[in-house]
Amino acid sequence: MTSFPPSPLMGQMQHQPLLISSIIDYAARHYGATEIVSRRVEGDLHRYTYADCQRRARRLAGALAGLGVGMGERVATLAWNGYRHLELYYGVSGSGAVLHTVNPRLHPEQIAYIVNHAEDQYLFFDLGFLPLIEAVAPHCPTVKAFVLMAGRGHMPAAGGPVRLLCYEDLLDAGDDDYTWPVFDENAAASLCYTSGTTGNPKGALYSHRSTVLHAYAAATPNGLNVSGADTVLPVVPMFHVNAWGLPYSVLLAGAKLVFPGPALDGKSLYELFEAEGVTFSAGVPTVWLGLVNYALQNGLKFSTFRRTVVGGAACPPALMDTLIDQLDVQAIHAWGMTEMSPLGTVSTLQAKHLRLPPGEQRKILYKQGHALFGVDMKIVDDDGRELPWDGIACGHLMVKGPWIIRAYFRDEGGEVLRDGWFPTGDVATIDADGYMQITDRSKDVIKSGGEWIGTIDLENIAMAHPAVLQAACIGLPHPKWDERPVLVVVTRPGAQVSREALLAHFQGKVAKFWIPDDVCFVDALPTGATGKVQKNKLREQFSGHRLDAPAKGK
Ligand code: AMP
Repeated sequence: MTSFPPSPLMGQMQHQPLLISSIIDYAARHYGATEIVSRRVEGDLHRYTYADCQRRARRLAGALAGLGVGMGERVATLAWNGYRHLELYYGVSGSGAVLHTVNPRLHPEQIAYIVNHAEDQYLFFDLGFLPLIEAVAPHCPTVKAFVLMAGRGHMPAAGGPVRLLCYEDLLDAGDDDYTWPVFDENAAASLCYTSGTTGNPKGALYSHRSTVLHAYAAATPNGLNVSGADTVLPVVPMFHVNAWGLPYSVLLAGAKLVFPGPALDGKSLYELFEAEGVTFSAGVPTVWLGLVNYALQNGLKFSTFRRTVVGGAACPPALMDTLIDQLDVQAIHAWGMTEMSPLGTVSTLQAKHLRLPPGEQRKILYKQGHALFGVDMKIVDDDGRELPWDGIACGHLMVKGPWIIRAYFRDEGGEVLRDGWFPTGDVATIDADGYMQITDRSKDVIKSGGEWIGTIDLENIAMAHPAVLQAACIGLPHPKWDERPVLVVVTRPGAQVSREALLAHFQGKVAKFWIPDDVCFVDALPTGATGKVQKNKLREQFSGHRLDAPAKGK
């Protein structure tokens, strides 16, 4: 790690390490009666307060100590968003152990791989994942026991294939007088593996310091803008990148917290939003597509829901327009990645933009946004030369900051930084006001006759067509131009559009040579464990698709 020379005159402020346990202590002491409401896997709604959560998180930490889990040892979770998962967030990290959140949507072989790679000692799981646990357990020799996150009544009869413990029994045996240990703020706090489309997933190992700094930044008005007056429902899963830091930011802001459990369909979400007075949420575009469709089809409006952060994949402008114009929900575009804890940029307006006509403001809001304080970014060409911030030059996006990784867990993949900057793998422009716009993943960008074609723009245009529900653009080999764009489309239920009509819809919206060569209609797009479209799968699926018709002239 880089070390810095001491100054001859050091400041005289108290040295309090930035520890995750201090967030739950603050929340319990200053907002002790604030509610946490969870839809449980058991089906019912559970309610308690920050003070209850802190008490149980401390008991859990005591129980972990009783099980012999030491500082730095990894404890895994395989769970939905709920209060017990939140107790693990604080109980595990607060005790000095490392919370390893595992994505249950991964293939069992990948789950076994990362549990082994992390050398998890215990694995806590939600009711419903027992069959998955039974499948992976024989391949996870480091795990001493699997803990079912439920009460005794839900425990299966003894004698199953795995060593099971009961979460509520563990807590009963915990200690009310447990006090959090104080240690170096740079100690590891939690671990999340990337959803790597090629090769094995790699681990991002967050520290207490990085997590607390990220939580502060996320709560600020130019960030996610979380305040004590909000009721927040994180749809983003706690099993991937700490639900964008909301389980920390919401507690330090003192907001009411609502967890949806496994019920993430439009109807269940709508009902929970209304019943609990949710004001603010966050999730990937596909979740909002589901909720928006449900609300529009049933002629519903939200009574309290006013803002949502959309990120994890590009938010199509058509979706943002529907949220804002038809449902009165301010959609805030954000960008980040596992390696960045995850927040990098958020699209919010500056004072000078408030004078612009609404259409011009919207163009700014469509972008991925402005860097938060704590994140520095730049774009570079193939040779690493920095490119101008003019909104036109397009290059590889590089970032640095205290909540961005400097290496992967166990130094997997070797040196990752280039001159101190982390290469995001995204291709972007940055305008003169510092708003970044992603045009592609570098591995998805289409190179046609030596020129780059950004697929996100093409997908956004396609999704603005009323008959199109989802669209993905991929590059397929072409005898003359090396690669040409092909659009893969899912139409809205009951809607129809021809290939020709869809291609005509691009006329005048992009340079002629950007217009896709073909359109393929499918029933669904393949998505990975974090809900992103798997373009590598699409490229495989359409590898036999021939493009030899004359391409659009360049
Ligand atoms: P993950 O590490 O799984 O969270 O994925 C991070 C990647 O998702 C980024 O590097 C981007 O390629 C993509 N991503 C995240 N947010 C956005 C966004 N708002 N617009 C476009 N791509 C995004």
